[in-house]
Amino acid sequence: MIAPQHSKDPAPRGNGSSGGGACSSGCGCGSGASSTGSKEAPANLATLVEKAEELARDWRLDAVRAWKARTKGIAVGYLPVWAPRELLHAMGVLPVGVMGAGDDLEIIRGDAYYQSYICHLPRSVIELGLNGALDCLDGMLFPATCDVIRNLSGVWKLSFRGKLSFYLDVPQDFERELGGQFLRQTLLELAHELETRGARKLDMGALARSIRLFDENRALVRQLYTLRRDEPWRVLTSELYPVLRAGLVQPVEEHNELLAAYLDLVRSATERRPLDQARVVVSGSFCEQPPLSLLKTLERGGCSIVDDDFVQITRWITSDVDQPHNTGKDALDWLVNSFLSDSTDSPVRYCAKGRKGDDLVRRVRASRAEGVLLCAPSFCDPALLDQPMLQDALDAAKIPWTNFKYAENTGQFQVIREQAGTFADSIKLWSEA
Ligand code: SF4
Repeated sequence: MIAPQHSKDPAPRGNGSSGGGACSSGCGCGSGASSTGSKEAPANLATLVEKAEELARDWRLDAVRAWKARTKGIAVGYLPVWAPRELLHAMGVLPVGVMGAGDDLEIIRGDAYYQSYICHLPRSVIELGLNGALDCLDGMLFPATCDVIRNLSGVWKLSFRGKLSFYLDVPQDFERELGGQFLRQTLLELAHELETRGARKLDMGALARSIRLFDENRALVRQLYTLRRDEPWRVLTSELYPVLRAGLVQPVEEHNELLAAYLDLVRSATERRPLDQARVVVSGSFCEQPPLSLLKTLERGGCSIVDDDFVQITRWITSDVDQPHNTGKDALDWLVNSFLSDSTDSPVRYCAKGRKGDDLVRRVRASRAEGVLLCAPSFCDPALLDQPMLQDALDAAKIPWTNFKYAENTGQFQVIREQAGTFADSIKLWSEA
């Protein structure tokens, strides 16, 4: 069950070696090979996007099964929104994002576990557990995102005995001596649990190398978001979204290659031309993910998304973890400090009154957006409790907004298309934003 180890020599900090090149350790981390074992890179944009969509819809986790068969390593799933993927990676564990099955799976037994007035995500995750799709996972992490995910962790523990089920409590106090100590202790407990399940021992040199790989991942995502902000016709959100989601089932080394390849292809896509669309920020879709068809509907309705909170784990930490000012006694401290002081103002994180509204207005200004789509999953408490504050902040800043809700399995988009289309038209015709 234990993946072969990388070198135990801690790499010097900040040596610029992210480890993103070919992996010579033979650990099967995936560098130089696709999740299905093929070494062929997608030749063109359409092929790459098709591959990303396939991975984004891989709720049966075929890519993870292939990785396990190849490496004999262990894989652990995590629910949205944040998980210490760097720590798992450093211990030879494949972190796997579990975001439900979208509109690809009919929920039959999952509904029986939950009342009707909560979001769709936990039903879908339970359904996946019961139908065997998640059997290849050696454990699951349930971050302290909301009551629904906390309750799901209890249901999971009772339903899937023998597998690791770890409730990842995270601090809402951001002082190093209080919240920092709490998070560090939680991560050490997690590392201990993983080790008893066959993961390699946590080594701070290995963690530093893993952090650099994820820093590279974050940097590539930031580049894509910047390019989309500047030239939204070049980076379509209906492509970027599956490209991000592919990373939930891929080793980070492979995902870095996918991101870099997509970036290269869209930069040189000379056939793409500016579109007469309204520039919008989408806010509220950080946990249960919208169906891809919804994003295509928004684009066809005349909206160019220039900022969003989809697949938020890719941007939860907003800059590099490995930075000179991020001090601490070891790499675990870097991770903890970044969580404390460099995390996004997510709805699942405590922020001082007014800060989230200010942050949304700042993002609108920075992305030169003309309006905001408040687009949250039905019954999502964290998103919907924040919404009145966000609306007030937008009103005060005279930024147009509209709101609607979705579920991951929403299949009818006509009403949303009309609403988004009317919103985009009204911006184009009358807005002063
Ligand atoms: S969609 Fe909202 S309510 Fe549902 S699990 Fe996620 S954060 Fe919780």
